[in-house]
Amino acid sequence: MNARRTNWAGNITFSAERFHRPASAGELQRLVAGTRRIRALGTGHSFSRIADCPGDLVSVAGLPKVIQIDPGRATVTVSAGLRYGELAGRLNEAGWALRNLGSLPHISVAGACATGTHGSGDANGNLATAVSALELVTADGDIVLLSRDSDAAALAGAVVGLGALGIVTSLTLDLVPAFAIRQYVYQGLPRDQLDEHLESIFASGYSVSLFTDWRGPKIRQVWRKCLAGERDPGLPGPGRWLGAELADGPRHPVPGMSAVHCTEQRGVLGPWQLRLPHFRPEFTPGSGAELQSEYLVPREHAIEALAAVGRIRGRVAPALQISEIRTVAADDLWLSPSYQRPSVAIHFTWIRDPEAVAPALAAIEDQLAPFGARPHWGKLFSVSPAVLGGLYQRLPDFQRLRGEFDPAGKFGNELVDSYVPASR
Ligand SMILES: Cc1cc2nc3c(=O)[nH]c(=O)nc-3n(C[C@H](O)[C@H](O)[C@H](O)COP(=O)(O)OP(=O)(O)OC[C@H]3O[C@@H](n4cnc5c(N)ncnc54)[C@H](O)[C@@H]3O)c2cc1C
Repeated sequence: MNARRTNWAGNITFSAERFHRPASAGELQRLVAGTRRIRALGTGHSFSRIADCPGDLVSVAGLPKVIQIDPGRATVTVSAGLRYGELAGRLNEAGWALRNLGSLPHISVAGACATGTHGSGDANGNLATAVSALELVTADGDIVLLSRDSDAAALAGAVVGLGALGIVTSLTLDLVPAFAIRQYVYQGLPRDQLDEHLESIFASGYSVSLFTDWRGPKIRQVWRKCLAGERDPGLPGPGRWLGAELADGPRHPVPGMSAVHCTEQRGVLGPWQLRLPHFRPEFTPGSGAELQSEYLVPREHAIEALAAVGRIRGRVAPALQISEIRTVAADDLWLSPSYQRPSVAIHFTWIRDPEAVAPALAAIEDQLAPFGARPHWGKLFSVSPAVLGGLYQRLPDFQRLRGEFDPAGKFGNELVDSYVPASR
């Protein structure tokens, strides 16, 4: 039994009657087979009610830890409850890397993949695109293995699965050889430079993030994460780039916050797992005074979409801590917010005040609706099921998959049942 009752941000109190942390696959299988309603809880970093369940919530973090590298296939098979921070150092020691990471290393692999969690980078798909196989416990307690080799279609449906098909116990992830990154932070990029040079700004590093509070005519910070061999902007000079200035010390994305927990900047070369996330693995915030939302728009609409949000900055800024703008490569995962669309992801870290956030969120959704913005599944959103349904071409296929895997709706919850009801 596990005593965790709220999510990381504390804005959701889980409605589950019972919390479980089985120590073996057999225990998990018996639990699933013997209950009417159950869902998996990862590390609880989602802001929406996506992980919630009225019956049983189960964490797979107590199952035996597995990190099994297959050098011949360049893959690693990991236990689903593992956090990226635990995995990444081990991979690097063995000479391997994941292609990308999110901003925080403390989230579980299964939970991140289930919601389409992503980092940044024109050529980098979301974290779920690395999954070549997954094993899950289905409604009757059986263990099912889906792999790219033998069940490519079902896998494409199941990876960003929102926890709705079963309890994932392990995932196999594609690897690349370990690599090194230099991270540079620039300050004060004029907005008109962004409009003019958006493509080259995002192409200026392996992974690029922009941070803005929407208050002024400048983007507050640009974080460029460059491969060791990429054109090096140099340190200490040249200090200026497109009108922005190289920061003279470490920076935190949120104004006024100390950079002590941020990953190393100022161009110091370091291993991928200590540069791609914005925050250091040894700093593990147990909770956070914030809420988050994020919308992925087709890349070709990036400038118009940013301008549309800019037009309502007066309604957004008062509830905002910071916004982050990233790019995500297109993929073929049915419920991925970047499904078949190279995307720009516009993220909002809000103050933890749901009443202040709700109207800002609604205003943003109005502004971004013309661009077919798809919300991040793990963050707050309020678009209607009808609107969201129109944004995902493969939704009917996912609904069929749900019907096949879980005919009695054992893994459903309010959010999943309203946005992706099973076809029966
Ligand atoms: C500080 C912070 C920073 C963040 N940064 C980013 C970022 O850079 N990029 C980004 O895209 N998102 C980001 N997020 C959002 C976060 O990555 C997602 O919400 C992610 O789903 C959280 O993973 P989790 O393990 O906490 O999953 P949970 O929130 O616990 O669960 C999410 C979903 O996964 C399902 N799930 C979890 N484990 C399993 C399993 N074993 N089997 C089946 N289903 C499972 C749950 O049922 C639920 O539907 C951030 C969140 C926070 C709090």
